[in-house]
Amino acid sequence: MVTAIIACAGSGVRTGFNENKLFKKINGKTIIEKTYGVFKNCKLINEIILTVSIKDQTYIKELIPDAKIVIGGSTRTQSVRNGLDAATGDIVLVHDGARPFVTKEIILDAIESVKKYGSGIASYPTADTLAAADDGFITKNLGKTGKFVIQTPQAFYLKDILKAYSLGDEDCPDESSLYLKYIGKPHLSKGSPSNKKLTYAEDFTTNKVGNGYDTHELVADRKLILGGIEIPHDKGLLGHSDADVLTHAIMDALLSAAGLRDIGYYFPDTDEKYKGISSVILLEKVMYLLKENGYKVINVTACVLAQKPKLAPYIEKIRDNLSKIIGVNKNDFGLTATTTEGLGFIGREEGIAVYATCLLSNI
Ligand code: MG
Repeated sequence: MVTAIIACAGSGVRTGFNENKLFKKINGKTIIEKTYGVFKNCKLINEIILTVSIKDQTYIKELIPDAKIVIGGSTRTQSVRNGLDAATGDIVLVHDGARPFVTKEIILDAIESVKKYGSGIASYPTADTLAAADDGFITKNLGKTGKFVIQTPQAFYLKDILKAYSLGDEDCPDESSLYLKYIGKPHLSKGSPSNKKLTYAEDFTTNKVGNGYDTHELVADRKLILGGIEIPHDKGLLGHSDADVLTHAIMDALLSAAGLRDIGYYFPDTDEKYKGISSVILLEKVMYLLKENGYKVINVTACVLAQKPKLAPYIEKIRDNLSKIIGVNKNDFGLTATTTEGLGFIGREEGIAVYATCLLSNI
C-alpha cells in the first residue's frame, strides 16, 4: 500500500496573495486540484491525504470531495506529522501542494527507489554554482559538482519516517533532512526543473493572446482618424464614433484576450453618448476594464490595410500616441501598413481594414 501526503496548509505569504496560493488557477484549474489530479491518476497510489489549515478545509472539501483531509499544524513539519499519523500505507510519499507539475514518472521513480534503497527523494543536479553566504557575503563557494536540488515527492517506509519524526520534533526544512539525521542516507530519485514549487507571484503568470479586426467605409466629408491621429486625406471613415478603425481593432483584441465581450457590447452604436466620440477615450475605458480584471498588456501589434493615403509618415506618431494610452513601451507597440495592390474594396479605396493582435499577462 502506498499513501501520498500532500502538504496544503501553507499560508503562501511569499506570493503576496491574500488567499492560499493553492487556490490560484492555472488554465481554469486550481493548483491543488492539479497536484491532486496527478497523484489520483497514479494507479500505484492507494490513498491520498491532504493536510490543510482549519480555515481552508471547507473550500478544499468542496474542490476535492473524495480527498481524505487531515488538519495541519502550525508548521510544515507538524502538518506532515499529522498526515503521517493518519496514513495507512507501508510506503508514504510526502509532496508539496504547490508543485502541480510533478509527473507520474517522478512519483513512480520515488516509489521504486524506496523498494530498492529504503527512500526516494526527487532531485536533479544543479546547473548553477552554489554558495553559502552570510550577511550578503559569500562565506564558502560550494561549486556545482555533486550538488543537487532537492524537491518533493520524498518517499519512505512509513515506519522509518515515523521513527525519524519521533526522534526529532524540531522544525525541519524537509523529510529528507530528518531522515538523514536519524535514519540514514536518503537515496536520490528522479526530479526535474519543471517540477518547480510555485512560490512567488511571478510563478503564477499566464499569458493570453487576442485578435481583433475592423473595417470602416471611406466617404467624403469625414475626418480620417487612425490611432487617435488625424491624417490629411480627401476622405474619412464613416461610423457612429470617430470611426477610428485601428483603435477599434486593438480594443477588440485586448477585450478578446481577457475573455471579455467586444466593443459593440460595451459601446453600442445605438447609444447617443458614443456619437462622434474619440475612440481613444473608449480605449482608455478598455484599459480600465483590463486592469479591473487583473490583466496587463505585454505587447500589441496591428496591420492597417489601406490603398490610400500613404501612412508611412504617420506610423511613429500613432505608435507614440497609442503606446502611451495602452501603457507599454513604444517597442512593444508594433504597427505596419500595407496596400492590397488595388484588389478588393480596400484596393478600390472604398474602405480601410485593420487586423490587431495582443498578448496579455494576468498580473
Ligand atoms: Mg469599428
